[in-house]
Amino acid sequence: MDVRDDRDAHGRRTLAKGLALLALAAVWVAAGALLWRTEVPGLPLPDLDPRDYFSGAELGRIEDYRGVSRLVFLASLAVEIIVLALLVWKAGPLAGRLERVGRGRVRTAVLVGLAVVLAVWLAGLPFGAITLVRRRDYGLSEQGWGGWLRDQAVSLGVEAVLVSIAVAGAVWLAGRFGRRWWLAGAPALVGIAALFLLAQPLLVQPLFNRFEPLRDRELAGEIEKLAAGMGVEVDDVLVADASRRTTTANAYVAGIGPTRRVVLYDTLLDGRFTDGEVLSVSAHELAHVERRHLWKGLAWFALLAVPGVFLLAWVTDRRGGLGPRLVPLGLAFAFAYVLVTQPFQNAVSRRYEAEADWLALQATGDPESAIALEQGFVTTSLADPDPPAWTTLWLGTHPPPLKRIAMAESQSD
Ligand SMILES: [Zn+2]
Repeated sequence: MDVRDDRDAHGRRTLAKGLALLALAAVWVAAGALLWRTEVPGLPLPDLDPRDYFSGAELGRIEDYRGVSRLVFLASLAVEIIVLALLVWKAGPLAGRLERVGRGRVRTAVLVGLAVVLAVWLAGLPFGAITLVRRRDYGLSEQGWGGWLRDQAVSLGVEAVLVSIAVAGAVWLAGRFGRRWWLAGAPALVGIAALFLLAQPLLVQPLFNRFEPLRDRELAGEIEKLAAGMGVEVDDVLVADASRRTTTANAYVAGIGPTRRVVLYDTLLDGRFTDGEVLSVSAHELAHVERRHLWKGLAWFALLAVPGVFLLAWVTDRRGGLGPRLVPLGLAFAFAYVLVTQPFQNAVSRRYEAEADWLALQATGDPESAIALEQGFVTTSLADPDPPAWTTLWLGTHPPPLKRIAMAESQSD
């Protein structure tokens, strides 16, 4: 074979690869820029003083609770990282032992994956127990140990199912397509995420809560009127029996397409919140529906999953390809990838939450209720109204309460 021809062909392939990568990057940036946009105008938000909205006693209690909670969070994260590192280190012997039970590459890989899930779950259990004790001490929960343990077991089960599907799929694809398996793996992962989003309200959430239609027909009528005004079609406003594990109040939207629903915690309806406040939070949730935030979240998942699965394939390929022995490394990589991209994911989430707040203010025209609602959320869940920057960066899925109050204040006269 002519050496020069071969070099030309190689050069052409590299050029084609480079161009394809460039095109992909351009598509990524364009899609990201479209998804990043919201309807929130650039408001000059006032810098508020938490003492104007909360008493000294409330702020002291919040600081007591949150200060230790942050330490518990950091400690549990550190322990999880150590456990994952140990599993990556001891992956060879672990896979060797499970091979005898698994008898087969994919089945052994799933067993290794389940061992990792179980180990990380066990490592997190003491921190969960500390959190429950503290939540009960501070009146945030009345849950007993039996109910708590059951919740932990159900969470473990759900995670085990999801990790089994992901590991089996990835290892099977890697065996079949070699280092290019990510080309099929990334779309498959996005497909699973879409199915999960669709099925979650029907399959997963009923494992934790019971749901029934909002019994207060007058309030339900008001919410329906609000939805109609916002141009949102919503069949179901449901109430979840959240009070079985928490005294904190909340609401959320779940599901896509036919499974879409707005859910209110029963703790929101126990008399601590006014109808105006319940309408405020309902408008916020309806705004998530109207702006298709769940779909956009899925699109962001795809934008992050493609480079993530590519990197995972690259990392494991350099060590001989994804098989049972590299499952701990693969899961540790996935954990690290989520952790590293978390500030970005949170920044996106905060934008969508701010947009939902903004549209809710426009729909209700009632900033006073929005402010009172936020105050109620802070005092009943002991949320930090003005948290340190690093917690907002890594944990802040919503704008800090004081920022949300500032937006409502900008609309009040
Ligand atoms: Zn929200």
